Amino acid sequence: MASRDPASDQLVNHKKSLKDSPAYITTKAGAPVGVKTAVQTVGKNGPILLQDVNFLDEISSFDRERIPERVVHAKGAGAFGYFEVTHDITKYCAAKIFETVGKTTPMAVRFSTVGGESGSADTVRDPRGFAVKFYTDDGNWDLVGNNTPIFFIRDAALFPSFIHTQKRNPATHLKDPDMFWDFITLRPETTHQVIYLFGDRGIPDGYRHMNGYGSHTFKMVNAQGVAHWVKFHYKTNQGIKNLSVEKAAELASSDPDYSIRDLYNAIAKGDFPSWTMYIQVMTMAQAESCKFNPFDMTKVWPHSEYPLIPVGKMVLNRNPKNYFAEVEQIAFSPANMVPGIEPSPDKMLQGRLFSYSDTHRHRLGANFLQIPVNCPFRVSVSNYQRDGPQAMNNQEGCPNYFPNSFSGPQECPRAQRLQPRYNLTGDVDRYDSGQTEDNFSQATILYKQVFDDAQKQRTVENIVGHLKDAAGFIQERAIKIFTQVHPDLGSKVAAGLAPFKKYHANL
Ligand code: NDP
Repeated sequence: MASRDPASDQLVNHKKSLKDSPAYITTKAGAPVGVKTAVQTVGKNGPILLQDVNFLDEISSFDRERIPERVVHAKGAGAFGYFEVTHDITKYCAAKIFETVGKTTPMAVRFSTVGGESGSADTVRDPRGFAVKFYTDDGNWDLVGNNTPIFFIRDAALFPSFIHTQKRNPATHLKDPDMFWDFITLRPETTHQVIYLFGDRGIPDGYRHMNGYGSHTFKMVNAQGVAHWVKFHYKTNQGIKNLSVEKAAELASSDPDYSIRDLYNAIAKGDFPSWTMYIQVMTMAQAESCKFNPFDMTKVWPHSEYPLIPVGKMVLNRNPKNYFAEVEQIAFSPANMVPGIEPSPDKMLQGRLFSYSDTHRHRLGANFLQIPVNCPFRVSVSNYQRDGPQAMNNQEGCPNYFPNSFSGPQECPRAQRLQPRYNLTGDVDRYDSGQTEDNFSQATILYKQVFDDAQKQRTVENIVGHLKDAAGFIQERAIKIFTQVHPDLGSKVAAGLAPFKKYHANL
């Protein structure tokens, strides 16, 4: 028999790892179970007794096994490891994680696709989530990014609509040929991410061979209270590898869990994947005079103007011991920041600061941060919050009001110093930037200067292959958008779509 990989051998290895004979089955309350294979009935063929509490214990647990899957990023893989500082960035940031070169911090990562359900194929054309949780000795810091440095939209008001276009048509429950391209072509700020997505990096070869990006702009504060704007990058040390359209389609049917399997097996074999973390830094003064909006999530900061500064490496060296406990229940939130790291005015980040924790309160319950994988285990959580479902750490006899005279937890001067005051003024309004910002120049650079001729051609084919089923008027609008990126792209997409145009001629 051919040898199997570590993922296939998980149960075999579990058995081998047991030193003692198997444990007795128990109920949830810990009582041993005598017979597991039959319900308790009146006579051989009789009805089940309500007193069969062992059966009730089991079936009521089974009935509640599924929690709501994430609305986005439902399908994913997780792993654990450490982050090690290799370069000193304390002149920018006083966060304890960056305190000294050589310092290591435990961390967790969840990689994911974005649009598909929990059972969907891993090898689809879709951005990949790249969410990192650092268990720092100042509490948990989550950097909840993607494998692309940019995103489709720049205003959180559009997020629910954009995600709906990635999901099923609410009437047919089918993937819809119009929804995505309708939205995309009505909101030209999506163009940069669309070019990125339909280029080669749109289908990474598993999760180990892709870069990660914090995507948003963040603020770093140093020990003197001086702030800088930053972007985070993680470059894969495995090298970038992408799948061809043909290979991805084949894997979608032969091994829809390809990326989860690849990550699990690599770690199980001791081939630990790693990434190098870099930051880009912009001073407050540079941001004032920047020719583009540095808080616009549809834009990168050009490397030539804002070079990558090395920070450290992250290494994944442990697989989850239990997928549901440690991956399905892991809860990332951009709101989990630590002293020295602050949000920027990026409107997408500002919206996510609320929505991620809010989703977890819905999926996992109000005390989701007390679930072991989410718990900031390097610190002792001390506050004035109490109770709620499954309150495990209810802080015993400490006072539950502040201020108090009974040695309850106190305010932290260091945290206060690392949140320096800043000035903001402006007219309150809703500023729709769809048509007023530059939506194309970075998309043009990506297509014209970063993609070589072969990748340009594949990008055209990938766009046509996806857009061919959309309604004719949407195809027309898309051609106009791609022409604004580059006339060559517009004309090639138009030529590629020509055979499919008749189909929609009457619309
Ligand atoms: P550079 O020439 O300095 O950087 C180009 C970058 O493009 C590379 O460093 C690489 O990013 C990335 N890249 C290479 N191949 C692909 C691909 N097939 N799909 C997507 N990205 C690719 O130029 P700039 O910094 O001025 O950026 C030019 C364009 O490059 C941007 O408009 C953007 O679309 C893209 N880009 C820029 C990034 C940035 O942070 N500046 C990051 C990623 C893409 P990496 O080194 O991260 O692998």
